[in-house]
Amino acid sequence: MKKFNPANALQDLSQFGEFGGVNPSVTDSATYTFMQAKTMTDTFKGETEGCFLYSRHWNPSNKYLSDALAAMENTEAGWVTASGMAAITCVILQICNTGDHIISSLTTYGGTFAFLSNYLKKFNIEVDFVNISDLDAVKKAIKPNTKMIYTETMTNPMLQISNLPELSKISKANHLKLVCDNTFTPMIVTPANFGVDVVVYSLTKFVNGKNDCVSGAICSTQEFINSLIDVNTGTAMLLGPAMDPKVSSAILKNLGDLHIRMVQHSKNAMYLANKFKENGIKANYPGLPEFPDHDLLKSMMNPPYGFGGIISIDLGTEGRSFKVMEMMQDEKIGYLAVSLGYFKTLFSNSGKSTSSEIPQDLQEKMGMSEGLVRFSVGLDMDIERTFEKIKHCIDSVK
Ligand SMILES: *Cc1c(COP(=O)(O)O)cnc(C)c1O
Repeated sequence: MKKFNPANALQDLSQFGEFGGVNPSVTDSATYTFMQAKTMTDTFKGETEGCFLYSRHWNPSNKYLSDALAAMENTEAGWVTASGMAAITCVILQICNTGDHIISSLTTYGGTFAFLSNYLKKFNIEVDFVNISDLDAVKKAIKPNTKMIYTETMTNPMLQISNLPELSKISKANHLKLVCDNTFTPMIVTPANFGVDVVVYSLTKFVNGKNDCVSGAICSTQEFINSLIDVNTGTAMLLGPAMDPKVSSAILKNLGDLHIRMVQHSKNAMYLANKFKENGIKANYPGLPEFPDHDLLKSMMNPPYGFGGIISIDLGTEGRSFKVMEMMQDEKIGYLAVSLGYFKTLFSNSGKSTSSEIPQDLQEKMGMSEGLVRFSVGLDMDIERTFEKIKHCIDSVK
């Protein structure tokens, strides 16, 4: 079998506009006309292909982006949402009912962690957090009411890698749904190829790459996507986090160079990781052979895209990390900002920002030190110069 390549899948897609425009037309309509009244009724019942009813359900611009993401993720279908959190929360609430149980990776995005550990209490949905690399712990956590295993391909900020083929075996043997957030590794890993049932994304990060909007996506089977937008019982349809079509049309254009951006992000991060190592700076990067999950990621990745654009370094104390970050911003290395996947380098202290929802004791359990600085490495042309500047900042702050 030919190896799946997400960039080829996108390249082979023909999507063009109403008037032959190479970019599909933006459909900025909330509602749609029908030539026959019966077609409207049939559309409500979900019995008509290619008919649009109302933009909370489907919008043509959103459909183009959803189809492109489904092609990239090698899934039957997709649906785009107004944020990554909307994608994540809709999927969880669609699959789980009151009284159900979820097994989640201990390390997830802070918002996801807060939703799982606090918000789901409203629905009496129980969540057990486990070290997702400990497959025995995952198996042991399964209960009669377990519905889902939730994880991220590459977790934030320790960059732990989920063993998707093994997690899929466990979930299939126990009739669970395996849900995976692939935000850190678009193009690099195609979770559906390893048996993941539902892939969720914050498109806000690498996929869009411009930091000009928040956005998300869900990729899965046609059946699951249809269930999400069912007019009577679909979480996405009823909670209503539909993407603005002007946003989806902009993201679709940014998808066209995602493969090149991922290669460059990875190349730059690999360069920095090696340089940090050479200079005795403690760096966490999956591309380093000594990284615990290096071989695991290698076994799952689509080869040309590298090990990703995220790297974290330990600067010891909070105080030192704050000073180094402020200096790095002054030295124009990038911005002291949360988020990731931007063309400029972004850096933040994980424990004090994007993972601050996670209690201190759990942060320690994850190996997240108070001086941990996460870099989302930019598309810098001259990464050698960037490294010299970073080194200067680190050396200047004792
Ligand atoms: C940012 C992020 C999210 C949340 O996405 P939003 O678009 O901000 O709602 C979810 N998961 C991961 C891994 C993220 O980095």
